[in-house]
Amino acid sequence: MAAKNLEELSDTELRKRLTRLAAAESRITREVIRHLAEYDRRKLWKADGVANLWEYSRKMLGFTEDQAAVRIRAARALQDHPALDRALELGELGASAIRRLAPALTKENAAELIAQARGKPLREVERLAAIELVRQDRAAARLEASGGAPADGAASAPVLFDAPRCSPEELQAESTSRWVRSRNPDSMRPLSGADWRVAFIAGTEFVRNVDQAKNLLARRFPDARLEDILGAGVEMVLDKLDPARRHARRQARALAKARKTAENESSAAANESSAAAGGKLSAPDGSAGDAARAPEAGTEAAGAEERDLRLRRRPHIPAALRDQVLARDGYQCAHVEPDGRRCPVRRYLEVDHIVPVALNGPTTLENLRAYCRGHNAMAAELAFGVSYVVRAIARHRLLRSSRPDAAAGSEPTSGPPP
Ligand SMILES: [Zn+2]
Repeated sequence: MAAKNLEELSDTELRKRLTRLAAAESRITREVIRHLAEYDRRKLWKADGVANLWEYSRKMLGFTEDQAAVRIRAARALQDHPALDRALELGELGASAIRRLAPALTKENAAELIAQARGKPLREVERLAAIELVRQDRAAARLEASGGAPADGAASAPVLFDAPRCSPEELQAESTSRWVRSRNPDSMRPLSGADWRVAFIAGTEFVRNVDQAKNLLARRFPDARLEDILGAGVEMVLDKLDPARRHARRQARALAKARKTAENESSAAANESSAAAGGKLSAPDGSAGDAARAPEAGTEAAGAEERDLRLRRRPHIPAALRDQVLARDGYQCAHVEPDGRRCPVRRYLEVDHIVPVALNGPTTLENLRAYCRGHNAMAAELAFGVSYVVRAIARHRLLRSSRPDAAAGSEPTSGPPP
């Protein structure tokens, strides 16, 4: 087909060409797969100086990863089940259909299943494969229950398309989840450079937990990328369990203790007891938030006025009480609209006094609530007026920027809105 200026084509001509091109494309793809299968059968890649068919497809044929994956899977299925070759050649099954059908194919069922799948739309092929996989799963389960060893998976169970009792949709949902689990194990594949593709199947509870972790880490990871969230979890595990890290921490502690002891001895030789007390460092709990929990009171730059303001705005709430409040409020902003709807925000929560400290509100569970930034600011406005809040925020910004640990703000429940 000569490359004419496409804009000059008539609609009819454009349609005709597309139909023709698409047919040619799928025919060529089918032929590529058949040839790949034969190439692999002869193991020619050995002679061509590459490690396997994958490398050959990527390096010598220039396929993208996706292209290589689809074609190689189909080519492998073709080698396992020669009956597929004819269907592919005739265009009765495409690469995608073969890919979906392949996991369900066994020596025993191949002829029948391929015959059923021929010429069917992709969805129907998927359904056929799903039904067959459930049947195999059940046969394997029955065999196991009856004490017999599952012979070669369920592959050698007789092929019986006994009408399944549940609806096709149910069947498909069940089989999809089962065979995705059983046939797609966890994978960590190198992509390019330092990038990896990590994939796995997870349950509902895992997803719920990850969502909650995203909320808790919102300050540290505003983008909430899975890599960051799961990475933080892995870091915590390593901090807690990795002997090398624990040892390094112990050494650092010992060093700090020795340094402190030496300082104390030189400055106040008489006071032996204070040197001993210097060794009482906070126990490492392995939490990644440690750095962020630097004492708020250590700001030398803060003038008396600011300090007073801070004390009024940010009274100390013990961590245990803070956790109790957040747990009681289900880690969600506790503000309820007049119409009874609760604020849905679950990020950047702050623990807020219902009756402000400035008005002698006590720091008790009953007088505390989890509030989002917006509602916290709103409550402060109601209590003190807008100008107070604006000034307080400006001052707090100043304090934050003058604090060396300002960047490490990972604790979700500290600090007023910026
Ligand atoms: Zn809110």
